[in-house]
Amino acid sequence: MKIKFCPQCERKQFTSCFNKNRRQRDGLSAQCKSCAKENMRIYREKNKENPQHKKRHLESVKRYYEKNKNNPEFKEKQRKRAKIYRETHKDEIKIRKKRYRQKNKEKISASAKKYYEKNREKIKKYRDKNKDKFRAIACSKRKENKKNPEWVAKQKERTKKYREKNKEKIKTRRRRYFEENRQKCYESLYRWREKNKEHWKDKMREYARTHREKNKDNPERIKKRKERYEKNKQKPEWVERRQLAIKRWRLKNKKKIAEYKRRSRERMPAGLYIIENTMTSKIYVGCSTQLPRRWSQHKRELNKGDHINSYLQRDYEEYGSSAFKFVVLREYPNDTPLALLEREETKMILENKKKKIPMYNVVVKISSLGPGE
Ligand SMILES: [Zn+2]
Repeated sequence: MKIKFCPQCERKQFTSCFNKNRRQRDGLSAQCKSCAKENMRIYREKNKENPQHKKRHLESVKRYYEKNKNNPEFKEKQRKRAKIYRETHKDEIKIRKKRYRQKNKEKISASAKKYYEKNREKIKKYRDKNKDKFRAIACSKRKENKKNPEWVAKQKERTKKYREKNKEKIKTRRRRYFEENRQKCYESLYRWREKNKEHWKDKMREYARTHREKNKDNPERIKKRKERYEKNKQKPEWVERRQLAIKRWRLKNKKKIAEYKRRSRERMPAGLYIIENTMTSKIYVGCSTQLPRRWSQHKRELNKGDHINSYLQRDYEEYGSSAFKFVVLREYPNDTPLALLEREETKMILENKKKKIPMYNVVVKISSLGPGE
């Protein structure tokens, strides 16, 4: 083995450490392999931005590639290098890919669509096979996206649009799902109700109120309701339940009812009235601090058969309730004292007696005629 001197690193080395060079007399380069390599590196670094160099370099790379592309050793080497590159330049690649995607959105989506159309069956099969995997991916993606308010708003808008567009479809789909999973649906509903008891109550109450208000005068609804009521009335257990519910409601709303009664009584006017037998024109004169209530009180007593005025009671039984008419003669403010009303009543009875108008009243409360009358 011969030895040669490298003037660059000033070392004596074996000739195998020198590149071949036919232009030299001894057929070897002047510098050793490692020095030549170093020189090449420096040259490359220096001429990085030089277009001519770039072009030449690219061409040489290409040539080298063309020459070795079917060489399995080269291929393996290339693969390893690519792998290392991918691992060491992860972020860079990510950014580059993202930029590319943003720049070529339409192109990508079009090609994806095309690919999907072409391989529909294949994709479907693959998806069916890897259902869980896809679901997991979608789930995690959604989770990630939910943190982004912009995405959430967009999604909401999209859902709304879809719902508006596919109302019927959704309805039938829901119905079908419900039919198929009745038990499950009910269970989940009960669970939800239990969990959201207060909320649900308020919400349903609110809904019922607005619904009632909206359909108050809808004759169709009124008719339906009546029919339902008539039907339900036939069922003793329904009637019992209803009565119980009413009772419960009354017990629960005792104060409210009392207050309502008090207020409505306050609103009732006082006054003088007559009950007229329209068949015979015979009248009964009376007064009350709560005019509207008085007529129903009279009717209740008459229907029971224990009205204080036996003449009126007798005629009521003879002519029937439809023959009698309640007429208000004069109204007074509702805080008018009873004594004053009774005085007015007595006066009217006496006047009528003078005019010989037939009357059921027989007793006149003289005491109600105050001093000076
Ligand atoms: Zn050297």
